[in-house]
Amino acid sequence: MKIIIIGGVAAGMSAAAKAKRIHADAEIVVYEMTEEVSFGACGLPYFVGNFFENPNQMIARTKEQFADSGIIVHTKHQVMALHPQSKTIRVKSLKTGLEFGDQYDKIMIATGASAVIPPFDNKDLVNIFTLKSMQDGVALKEKVMKPEYKQVVVIGGGYIGMEVVEAMLHVGKEVRLFQADSRVLPETFDEEITDIMTDEILRKGVLLHTKERVQGFVGEIEVEGVITDQGQYPADLVVIATGVRPNTGFLTDTGITMLENGALVINGHGETSLPDVYAAGDCATVYHLVKKQEVYIPLATTANKLGRIVGENLVGLNSHFPGTLGSACIKVLDLEAGRTGLSEKEAKELGLSYNTILIRDKNQTHYYPGQVDIHVKLIYDAETKVILGGQIVGEQGAVLRVDVLAAAIYNKLTTEELGMLDLCYSPPFSRTWDVLNIAGNVAE
Ligand SMILES: Cc1cc2nc3c(=O)[nH]c(=O)nc-3n(C[C@H](O)[C@H](O)[C@H](O)COP(=O)(O)OP(=O)(O)OC[C@H]3O[C@@H](n4cnc5c(N)ncnc54)[C@H](O)[C@@H]3O)c2cc1C
Repeated sequence: MKIIIIGGVAAGMSAAAKAKRIHADAEIVVYEMTEEVSFGACGLPYFVGNFFENPNQMIARTKEQFADSGIIVHTKHQVMALHPQSKTIRVKSLKTGLEFGDQYDKIMIATGASAVIPPFDNKDLVNIFTLKSMQDGVALKEKVMKPEYKQVVVIGGGYIGMEVVEAMLHVGKEVRLFQADSRVLPETFDEEITDIMTDEILRKGVLLHTKERVQGFVGEIEVEGVITDQGQYPADLVVIATGVRPNTGFLTDTGITMLENGALVINGHGETSLPDVYAAGDCATVYHLVKKQEVYIPLATTANKLGRIVGENLVGLNSHFPGTLGSACIKVLDLEAGRTGLSEKEAKELGLSYNTILIRDKNQTHYYPGQVDIHVKLIYDAETKVILGGQIVGEQGAVLRVDVLAAAIYNKLTTEELGMLDLCYSPPFSRTWDVLNIAGNVAE
């Protein structure tokens, strides 16, 4: 049995490791375009912001460690084409430029996604970056650590853009953030929550431009400024964080089923529409437990879990991923925020009959040092009161409470049940009625 895996990060290496553990005799070959495997891009903003120094700390397991377990890893090798009828692929060595063929019994596409760069004028000037690969991070940090580069422009107020804002403030830069939408993180958090995040970044001195579109850059060799539909602003460094697109262009001739954005449609077993071709991670869809449909939510959490499921199925098991809740979290300077299930925007788009509540309460008792505000929003079915989604923001204790909400939504708990859920209490952590209990009770 020969298994080929294309892409050697979260989804691909989770699958490779799992398959090898179950079936030691399986021949597993990984092709990865870059120098590294098992690289955790989630650490990049914190590396660039100098929260830690050694980029190798973002590598979970090296190529050599995988080789020791019997997995054959070819780095600097790009898969150029898949031929499902003959079960072969075309591979190019990026070291020698030579192309060759390889054959599989089963194959997994785990090629992830790439940063989207809009068609800005002069986008090839020096000191304009995206943040996706290890090389991106190392190149950006080299510039960031130079004090002469003071003014940083971040384009895009999604997760990565917001994390880059924090990184740049951490190393003492002046930060300007452009967001074409009317608010930051519009796809994931509702307005009441993003308003609190916006207050936080404004308070920390970020120059925020919402409803303003970047059109291009000025400069001779290095970038010197940014031009928008409303003006021109100085910039020494620019980070573009305007979203990602699945790396599936090399599959368009195969007839494989994709969403409009190029994400490979898979089922709960990780199977694509082609026989013996599996996929997982940022290049693929995932089933949403509340929406009850395939969605595109590129996150490391799902890539790891579905990667493992695919690894099991590649060697003959019949494992199934139940689905995502779109649970995700972010640190916005002194705030932490998380969300799970549906946002109100999503509930509205689905035409659901729902109610919401938003409460502001405290994270813990008043007499123990560290009491701060915590805001909880619940979205729940208007009739049955089953919780559909939740978002929490605060200085402390917000994100792990979102995990409680994720378990509640997974188990279809009602607001009433949340109100009486037996949650922990001790003065440094909560109050006798935890903020989640209170939210559940308010939402009657
Ligand atoms: C800055 C940043 C911060 C993030 N923070 C978080 C976070 O806090 N939480 C979270 O859940 N997620 C986060 N993510 C998302 C997370 O990194 C991804 O969801 C995860 O890496 C997806 O893993 P993957 O294996 O599907 O794809 P990738 O990690 O994209 O890996 C795919 C690999 O395939 C290789 N490849 C592509 N095409 C080919 C080809 N044709 N031939 C050979 N190799 C190929 C690529 O070189 C790449 O190494 C973050 C991402 C970024 C960029």
